[in-house]
Amino acid sequence: MHALHRPARMHIASVGVSKVGFLFSLALGGLLLLLIPALQPTARQLDLPQPRPQVKTSSYTLQHNTGPPTVSDSAGDTETATGLSISSEGMNGTIETEPFENDDDKETYSEKNSEALSLPEGQSRILPRPGSRDPLELKDIFIAVKTTRKYHKSRVELLIQTWISQAKEQTYLFSDGEDKQLQMRTGANIINTNCSAAHTRQALCCKMSVEYDKFIESQKKWFCHVDDDNYVILPSLLQLLSSYHHSQDVYLGRPSLDHPIEAAERIKSNGMVSVKFWFATGGAGFCISRGLALKMSPWASLGNFISTAEKIRLPDDCTIGYIIEALLEVALIHTHLFHSHLENLQKLPTDSVLEQVTLSYGGYENRRNVVSIVGGFSLVEDPTRFKTVHCLLYPDTDWCPKPKPHHGK
Ligand code: UDP
Ligand code: MN
Repeated sequence: MHALHRPARMHIASVGVSKVGFLFSLALGGLLLLLIPALQPTARQLDLPQPRPQVKTSSYTLQHNTGPPTVSDSAGDTETATGLSISSEGMNGTIETEPFENDDDKETYSEKNSEALSLPEGQSRILPRPGSRDPLELKDIFIAVKTTRKYHKSRVELLIQTWISQAKEQTYLFSDGEDKQLQMRTGANIINTNCSAAHTRQALCCKMSVEYDKFIESQKKWFCHVDDDNYVILPSLLQLLSSYHHSQDVYLGRPSLDHPIEAAERIKSNGMVSVKFWFATGGAGFCISRGLALKMSPWASLGNFISTAEKIRLPDDCTIGYIIEALLEVALIHTHLFHSHLENLQKLPTDSVLEQVTLSYGGYENRRNVVSIVGGFSLVEDPTRFKTVHCLLYPDTDWCPKPKPHHGK
């Protein structure tokens, strides 16, 4: 019996407590209702899966008169209207447009620079975020330089002597062979990827895959990739990336074509579908925000990059474009501040050279293609013009010619 009474008393007592509790929870509930609007934006940010990207990809919306180049799955080369030549088997890893014959070159660079950052029609742009409270620093940028053993002497040394000297800690050279001597002498970060030294699609994608994994591991805010024939103008790079936030989806670079590329994508059921997307040409360099790079992980990390590249049988830079534009539906932000030697570099106005983000050089033995800039070194002393550019940017460098004292001083 006691056993019955006690629970009954407790029951009555708990009713008394729960009345107070009920009133309290009513008040709490009211308070919470008032707070809901204030809490909502945070709640939405945490929503999974990820919201649609802010920028709609151009791939499916743009119409082009010229018609995109087609990459067929059959062996052999595909010639296109723009002189683009792609071989789908045994591809050498590059898509080449004939230099100097690009319509692009007919525009003046001053026109281009005024809209150096543009998205194709119909696309909204990611709003730049000027004057952020947390200013971007050089140490926040991971710079990957793709190279190969045979270019350590002829190309890499020049880079280490010039722009890499100003960004030593965060610049990594991704090569395919050991060079302890260069590493010891210069203190540069040289990574032996153990990828093949051949200039094949697979070898180049292997390097990109290692670059990606190293960037993720680095915890840095931005990933920028360049070739070993690029000069990176660090102040311009910093200024450009400062306009965006690393948690936004940002993919910045120079499109190598004036229209999206069309590729045949292998799908599971042994079939093929056609897919169109823009990509930033690797030879001019490109940058990706950490936020976007993390979303690329299922297709890019730990060897997945190589299988993704196999699905479309295209080189490393195209595969990056495929993952970002076609799979993640984030549009490339087109910029003309990045330069490869596939364009006529001589056409860059001298007074705008130092405002660019990347420069390059090509074929300076026979058909010279270098930026036109005047400084302390002649064309013979500095055939790539990189030393001249460097001394204009960093005149205090010990090997830079000292300006002659003015007459009368
Ligand atoms: N490269 C490479 N392996 C090779 C040949 C080249 O990794 O066997 C790299 C090279 O170091 C450079 C990029 O690929 O960073 C492009 O090479 P290159 O400038 O010789 O050719 P192009 O610009 O004409 O495609
Ligand atoms: Mn090159």
